[in-house]
Amino acid sequence: MGSKKRKFSTMQTRSDPAHSSPYDGNTKPQEESDHEEINPDDVCPICNLLVYRPVTTSCNHNFCQSCMAHWADVSFSAQMTHVDLDERRIVETISANDIETKCPMCRTQTVANVSQQLERYLKERYPKLYATRAEEEEALSKDITPDDSVEILTIYIGNEHRLIRTNESLSNNKHDWKFFVRPSRIDIIEEVQIFLHPTFRNPRIIVQYSPYEIRRLGWGYFTIVAHVILKAGYSWVSGEAEDAPDGGEKGMLPLQWTLDFNGRGAQGRYKVKVRRQKEGMDEEMRRQGERVRRIWTEQRRADPDWVEPDADGS
Ligand SMILES: [Zn+2]
Ligand SMILES: [Zn+2]
Repeated sequence: MGSKKRKFSTMQTRSDPAHSSPYDGNTKPQEESDHEEINPDDVCPICNLLVYRPVTTSCNHNFCQSCMAHWADVSFSAQMTHVDLDERRIVETISANDIETKCPMCRTQTVANVSQQLERYLKERYPKLYATRAEEEEALSKDITPDDSVEILTIYIGNEHRLIRTNESLSNNKHDWKFFVRPSRIDIIEEVQIFLHPTFRNPRIIVQYSPYEIRRLGWGYFTIVAHVILKAGYSWVSGEAEDAPDGGEKGMLPLQWTLDFNGRGAQGRYKVKVRRQKEGMDEEMRRQGERVRRIWTEQRRADPDWVEPDADGS
């Protein structure tokens, strides 16, 4: 095993220009004794350096957290994936810190989690190199402010279906269908607007609370448009996003679903990014204040002797 070990310098040039180290070109010759030999298994396949802040994928590959996050960003697409109607797993298991993407090594869809165990091992085995990597990463992150205001939402969209036999004749069969939009976070959703075929009596339905579903009986399938609208202070990070009806920039994500009347129905999965605007909280407070003032105005109109309650009771 010892003969297979390769020597790596921490001052290698990174292959990714976006990740170029400020130390590039300033490589100083080091004493042989300063080298800690790196086992090839401990090298990040993205940056070719000792893995720093390791994440391990479900397909069992290791990467630096920053490398994997960057990879997930550049390979991100808001394409819908058709999934099993019963799939709920990803909603339950993915937290904001997990990175879900196609593995750069084996190309399977995978989830990367921080591995503290591996980090402990790396720190112990390569104390000097790991410290140098930490310095490098810190120098890099001065230019790139970590964007922890962005998170990925999973949205399931689809329909359940049941055939109702009303008559011996097939043409009289009815379809009992339930269209749904299931986002992994509902606390930041303002409402979901559902647009049915124009032949429906009320083709535009606004659902303000989860579950965002509608159930109908019908003869034919058609394409439903759903506008998923975020609360004030949040915006979709997506080329497809539009401004919300109330003016929220990129606050509305239009999605489409064609009803599927085969068997129990079908669903698709979207992965979409949401950004929390810095002024999001302020905006939320301002709107809430406006709402309260409006209620007070109405109250005063109805009861001229009414006294406004103290804001904080002090
Ligand atoms: Zn890396
Ligand atoms: Zn993999």
